Amino acid sequence: MLARIDETGIDSNVSIKLTQFGLELDPELAYRNARRIVEDAARRGNFVRVDMEGSTVTQATIDVFKRLRAEFGLDDVGIVIQSYLYRTMEDARDLLKIPARIRLCKGAYNEPPEVAYPAKKDVDANYVRVMQLLLASGVYHGIATHDPKMINATIEFAQREGIGKEAFEFQMLYGIRRDLQDQLARDGYRMRVYVPYGKHWYPYFMRRLAERPANIWFVLKNLWK
Ligand SMILES: Cc1cc2nc3c(=O)[nH]c(=O)nc-3n(C[C@H](O)[C@H](O)[C@H](O)COP(=O)(O)OP(=O)(O)OC[C@H]3O[C@@H](n4cnc5c(N)ncnc54)[C@H](O)[C@@H]3O)c2cc1C
Repeated sequence: MLARIDETGIDSNVSIKLTQFGLELDPELAYRNARRIVEDAARRGNFVRVDMEGSTVTQATIDVFKRLRAEFGLDDVGIVIQSYLYRTMEDARDLLKIPARIRLCKGAYNEPPEVAYPAKKDVDANYVRVMQLLLASGVYHGIATHDPKMINATIEFAQREGIGKEAFEFQMLYGIRRDLQDQLARDGYRMRVYVPYGKHWYPYFMRRLAERPANIWFVLKNLWK
């Protein structure tokens, strides 16, 4: 995939999930596999984002990421944090010390109240707090959300603090809120679209469905087309 991106010259980087590289079997194996990808991406001047998965692998994911980041540059490899987890503000502070390029999202896994805010309003409030910390850090981060409230809070904070539109990017999932994607791009913001790719689409689809059952119509409509 990295070779094709190179050949076609499209403006794109790659996100990977470490469980697909062996994380739950052996973190060392996942590290070695991910390292091969990051090494190739770095050689090509591309960037690899390590997605964040369920809370049982949060620490293991961060540990592998830190090892990769120790070997590769800020612009070679980045990570994701989820505002629904209680630990996330601490993780953000810790990762910024390295520093690291971070994607902030709300979180897509079904988590127990022992580790994650059960109420949406708390997840959102934490999102805004962490977003502010990230934007103020001066590192190039990704603000991943389709939520107009989170997007407006980001725009307002950036304007208030004099943070330029080129200093961060918005990110949304392929096919979701395309109107908002277009609008942000027209307004001069950087807008990256996450495109799921590969044969194992089912778990991805189930997470989207759990978030929003109406997505079933979106999928059926597109299959029909
Ligand atoms: C680029 C990108 C990368 C991501 N990477 C990760 C990751 O590594 N780990 C992880 O746990 N999660 C990841 N996520 C998923 C994320 O955690 C949320 O589950 C998802 O983005 C929904 O949250 P929201 O911020 O859009 O807000 P929500 O509060 O869920 O939704 C706000 C509004 O957005 C719209 N919307 C949201 N979701 C949908 C949908 N599926 N279909 C249609 N409309 C919708 C609706 O209008 C909704 O009212 C990623 C999301 C994006 C955009």
